[in-house]
Amino acid sequence: MEVVPDVSFTVRDAVRLYGIDNWGAGYFDVNEQGRLTIRPNRDDRAVDLYGLLARLRKRKMRFPMLLRFPQILTNRVNELFDAFEKSIAEYSYGNRYLGVFPIKVNQKKEVVDELVAAGRDRGMGLEAGSKAELAVALSHKLSPDALIICNGYKDAPYVRMALRGVEMGKRVFLIVEKPQEIELILRVSKEVGVQPLIGMRIRLHARGSGKWEKSGGQASKFGLTTQEVLEAIELLKRGDALNSFRLVHFHVGSQIPEIKRIKAAVKEGARVYAKLRAAGAPLEVLDVGGGLGVDYDGSKTTYEASMNYTLQEYANDVVYIVREICGAEGVPEPSIASESGRALVAYHAMLVCEVRGQNATPAEAADLMVPQDVHDVLREMKDILEGMTRKNHREYYHDALEKREELYGLFDLGYLSLRERALGERLYDAIARTAVRFAKEDRFVPEEFEDLEKKLITKYIANFSVFQSIPDSWALDQLFPVVPIHRLGDEPTVPATLCDVTCDSDGEVDRFVDLRDVKDHLDLHVQDGKPYYVAILMIGAYQDVLGDYHNLFGIVDEAHVAVGPGKAVRILATQPGDRARDVIRLFSYEPDDLAKAVEAQARAAVREKKLTKAQAQSIVDEYKEALDAYTYLDFSQ
Ligand SMILES: *Cc1c(COP(=O)(O)O)cnc(C)c1O
Repeated sequence: MEVVPDVSFTVRDAVRLYGIDNWGAGYFDVNEQGRLTIRPNRDDRAVDLYGLLARLRKRKMRFPMLLRFPQILTNRVNELFDAFEKSIAEYSYGNRYLGVFPIKVNQKKEVVDELVAAGRDRGMGLEAGSKAELAVALSHKLSPDALIICNGYKDAPYVRMALRGVEMGKRVFLIVEKPQEIELILRVSKEVGVQPLIGMRIRLHARGSGKWEKSGGQASKFGLTTQEVLEAIELLKRGDALNSFRLVHFHVGSQIPEIKRIKAAVKEGARVYAKLRAAGAPLEVLDVGGGLGVDYDGSKTTYEASMNYTLQEYANDVVYIVREICGAEGVPEPSIASESGRALVAYHAMLVCEVRGQNATPAEAADLMVPQDVHDVLREMKDILEGMTRKNHREYYHDALEKREELYGLFDLGYLSLRERALGERLYDAIARTAVRFAKEDRFVPEEFEDLEKKLITKYIANFSVFQSIPDSWALDQLFPVVPIHRLGDEPTVPATLCDVTCDSDGEVDRFVDLRDVKDHLDLHVQDGKPYYVAILMIGAYQDVLGDYHNLFGIVDEAHVAVGPGKAVRILATQPGDRARDVIRLFSYEPDDLAKAVEAQARAAVREKKLTKAQAQSIVDEYKEALDAYTYLDFSQ
């Protein structure tokens, strides 16, 4: 029954099994000790994650734990600018690249600060989709030519805030999403006495593809139709403000897996730019939006979790197409902006959680001994188990199904003890596992056994919340690589899924990266009673802010880590996650009032002689302590 571990399994086999070289992008590897490593600068300086965790534990950090590697952010910013600058040089493009980070992809201060610092000298800007995001963007001291792009629907205060930014000398562009916004912008601009910088988001015929393709195309929620662009220009002319119209923007969705979709969008967008420019709009910038993908599964395909192009290919295509079209239309080449968010931040963060327990353990031979004095049905099941062969496994399995029905029938009628029922269930489980093993030896595995195999996948219970830490895994079935951070020199022999600690059956990760397909399980190591840690990787984009408080599991402990100078691994900062009192307060409870309410009830019980004073006191003390505790499970006591 037990799968015998292959002693020749090496860390290289682990790298292959989990696909680390496929999706790791040079950031992830496994060392000779069988531990997952991360190289934030993509050089030879690696962080041994298991060793890092030991240090963080000493600092009282708890699991689940979010680890951020800010150097990855710098590395990504450099790669993005390098790629565009290389294309610009190669095609002798007559203008520059200006990257813009969309704040909605990760609003965390340390993340935005790091990106801005990394790109300051190269003209890195920010994109905001709301007043609050604009407030963040304006607070940054960017280079004077950097762009601040204001997307999203707008009201007068949003417009006013943007204009104040212009007044401060920043290049804050108001991107028009609806023609009526022109009137609003012109009115507020008159009030404030500042000439606006206006961009228009155009609605392309070309669509993205993948999960987010609704963001583009004719039916999109966003952007101006061709007719509306013409109307908007009329409105600008009438307001004597055509001179404000400096930018054309489009965005066809996030995580675009196919380069041909990107090329089609850029062709169309560049043509619109060129026509408008030729018609007299004083345009300076073409903003190609987001959508630059991340290869989460490493398959390099057009699958939604992947991408069939490289960053350099993306930059080359954008620059080349814009140049060609501007040449054909005889208009000046604009600055090219992109709003690449996911591609900058996805890699920098990971969640490490501890696995404790599993839903069911396969029975050992000793557990399947059938004593003399039990019901015949159990002896018959044992005979099925022992007599099963590759040849008869199908028939024997069907017999076992019948016996299992009989087992429950007898139990319902009161003929079986709980102990007998337990033994019957374990025998059935062992039969099913044996049958699946035989079935898989055949070339053709009947559907029946494929389904049965799925039911036998072990559920590992991990101390985290899908809803708080990887919401897109639940909401969109998004794939994130999952890898144990240690024991990688040993063969993992348990096909498992990862269940979180919420009371929601959706709180489970049961789709895993695979080169050809999506796997319904991950091979993990046998639980040996010692702590077992797995990391969920590449969760730096969108997950931080979309996380929710299902079951009141809160924000997790967090550490920021860098490597260097030399090979030293430095813990730059640690931030404690939510306490129970923090998440309770989010839902309008006042934790101190709750403590008082418990205290009042305990005192009443003392008056009624149901509790002693000492008992009441310790109840109240412990209640208060619990309010200060981490919201996740604490295995240390
Ligand atoms: C969300 C969004 C982005 C970011 O897209 P990524 O795929 O993360 O690069 C860029 N621009 C706009 C308008 C967006 O809404």
